[in-house]
Amino acid sequence: MAAEGSFTVSGEPSSFSFAVGLGALDKGMCQVVQELLGVGHITQFARRKPHYDDEAAIVVRALPGLVHVVVPFMDEHLPPSYKRNQYEAWRTALLEYREHRAKRVRPCTIEGCERSRRAKGLCRSHYYDAYRR
Ligand SMILES: [Zn+2]
Repeated sequence: MAAEGSFTVSGEPSSFSFAVGLGALDKGMCQVVQELLGVGHITQFARRKPHYDDEAAIVVRALPGLVHVVVPFMDEHLPPSYKRNQYEAWRTALLEYREHRAKRVRPCTIEGCERSRRAKGLCRSHYYDAYRR
């Protein structure tokens, strides 16, 4: 399953995804992978020719799922290979992106509050406290 995975990055700002499937595995197998990882969703594609099966893929796009589930899984299970090299380049980009994004999220200006800033320098909860009256 690790070897059938594909690691992609696209767009600006970057969007990362990990997918298994696209005809390589059937839908039942995709569900097994989804249950194994505990993240991602199943996407189905209509058959491209009448005698083909419908295709299914499990896709993980959410950053926490990629960082906390897919990366540790691949680090452990993906054997040295061309795919592993692709994965490691993707992982580097993913972790850099995550770090930059985390830096852009500035904290609330209320001292001691570490929630992220939403409006007028305040987090959502302090913003409501200040402006609801
Ligand atoms: Zn706050």
